[in-house]
Amino acid sequence: GTVRLALVGLGWWTTERVLPAIEAVDRCETTTLVTGSRAKGERVAADVETVSRVLDYDEFHDGVGREGYDAVYVCTPNAYHLDYAETAAGLGKAVLCEKPMEATVGRAERLVDVCEEAGVELIVGYRMQTVPAVRRARELVREGVIGEPRFVTGVNSQRLLDMFADHDQWRLDPDLTGYGTSVVDLGIYHLNTARFLLDADPVAAQASMRSDHEAFDRVPDELASVLLEFEGGVHSTCVASQNAAERTYLQVVGTEGSLRLDPAYHMDTRLRLTVGDRSLDVETPDANQMVDLFDYFAEAVLTDRDPGPDGRHGLVDMRALEAIHRSAESGERVTVDS
Ligand code: NAD
Repeated sequence: GTVRLALVGLGWWTTERVLPAIEAVDRCETTTLVTGSRAKGERVAADVETVSRVLDYDEFHDGVGREGYDAVYVCTPNAYHLDYAETAAGLGKAVLCEKPMEATVGRAERLVDVCEEAGVELIVGYRMQTVPAVRRARELVREGVIGEPRFVTGVNSQRLLDMFADHDQWRLDPDLTGYGTSVVDLGIYHLNTARFLLDADPVAAQASMRSDHEAFDRVPDELASVLLEFEGGVHSTCVASQNAAERTYLQVVGTEGSLRLDPAYHMDTRLRLTVGDRSLDVETPDANQMVDLFDYFAEAVLTDRDPGPDGRHGLVDMRALEAIHRSAESGERVTVDS
């Protein structure tokens, strides 16, 4: 079978990364584009043979063309994910929702509820979980190659203001992102990848944040440092910033050795293993992360397989993000709700 997709939100991620990736996945095809600008939709559709329909947001919510797709990919600013997921669920369509799942814990909980009530599959787009180097790292941790994991360190930074000419874009508006910008948009990669590698969830957070540049005056975290305590006593520290040179890595240090993903989160992920005084690059197959994510989604939709990063999994991250921000505000250690 083939999963026919409606893509909601035609921003840079959808048009540059997702559309070409779906074309490379045998079990997926894009049949429907949902956009605020019909002209843009028609322009994008002209380059994709499988697209048979362009809908505006109202048409999508009204169920126009519903017979033309089986699942919905939601890639809008965070605070609109729920609206589109809710409509999709109401139409009986499976949902692949971009990270973070929503802007707040409350809205994310509602998103999970509407999908569960409708009995539709919900997967959160944590593409790192399908990356061969990350999967291999998880196996090595499980096999005890680095001994018992003790701590995780990492960074995720980028120069947001250079990437988007418009300083006023949605990543700097807390109503659209959620609690802030650097942690919900970048730190979440560290948080979710650490959870995946350790097979454990965070139980408490401490954080320190600051914003200095005027473009960041509405968000608390131009720069954020986050300490998470995981179940089992592993500590994790991460620095995230939307206003520093691009840099990504994550390292897990155990009692016997360490694993390092460097670079970690962009389209190329490299894995290095160190045990004692021996260090080696762990070769893993090259992969296109978005191709793998959509292939995985297709399998989950077509086969009833355990969907992995589902809505309940995404909620743990949302609760951790909230705890991190509460800690930065209060200066206190905050327990992550479970
Ligand atoms: P973007 O600003 O490039 O695109 C967002 C799109 O949503 C725009 O086309 C905009 O017109 C549209 N939009 C605005 N208001 C809308 C509304 N009310 N309803 C529907 N659409 C609306 O943003 P982006 O970088 O593509 O990010 C979109 C989502 O994808 C975010 O949740 C982001 O976190 C996620 N994302 C994930 C990855 C990843 O690696 N997994 C990468 C980039 C973005």
